[in-house]
Amino acid sequence: MLKHEKAVVVFSGGQDSTTCLFWAKQQFAEVETVTFNYGQRHNLEIQCAQNIAREQNVKHTVLDMSLLNQLAPNALTRSDIAIEEGENGIPTTFVDGRNLLFLSFAAVLAKQAGAKHLVTGVCETDFSGYPDCRDSFIKSLNVTLNLAMDYPFVIHTPLMWLDKADTWELADDLHVLDYIRTRTLTCYNGVMGDGCGECPACKLRRAGLHQYLERRETALKGGTL
Ligand SMILES: [Zn+2]
Repeated sequence: MLKHEKAVVVFSGGQDSTTCLFWAKQQFAEVETVTFNYGQRHNLEIQCAQNIAREQNVKHTVLDMSLLNQLAPNALTRSDIAIEEGENGIPTTFVDGRNLLFLSFAAVLAKQAGAKHLVTGVCETDFSGYPDCRDSFIKSLNVTLNLAMDYPFVIHTPLMWLDKADTWELADDLHVLDYIRTRTLTCYNGVMGDGCGECPACKLRRAGLHQYLERRETALKGGTL
């Protein structure tokens, strides 16, 4: 469909962005990836992203975003906040507007690389926490980036309206379900593939996988596939 054009995928090495990488490889002639290093709890995340990019033969840039730690409301500067994992495993050091910053830096990189397409795995369905993951924000940012750089960016969000089961289905449609199941890292405890099974990210990922596999099984039995 856009076989002659180039895209940059915002890539963490997790299930969602890896699914986006394969989606992009199907859509575009050339694909690059960018990963943001902001002092992730597990350096394995960066390693995982690097490995996948190498295996899939796509250019991979790691941008240093450690400055985010200077903005994080942490116990060093704010005595009323403890450093701990909050609900959903989101650390209390979360920085507002992080996705805004990531996508803006990705856009600068994309323009330099001659790519007008940006692909991000943000999703409004599973998610209530981050305002800068919502569809309305992405559409607004798209206009802003085009005006800021006088360049016709198109932001693609293939997962925006999917739940976790749908995301597994997309991976299966792209013939990479097993690859994504084994080679990506979503777990907050840094366990690759199916993960530790205990943390909120693992529970969400596993529930979605089971839901999808059951749906596939039922469809096979019913002869609708
Ligand atoms: Zn886990």
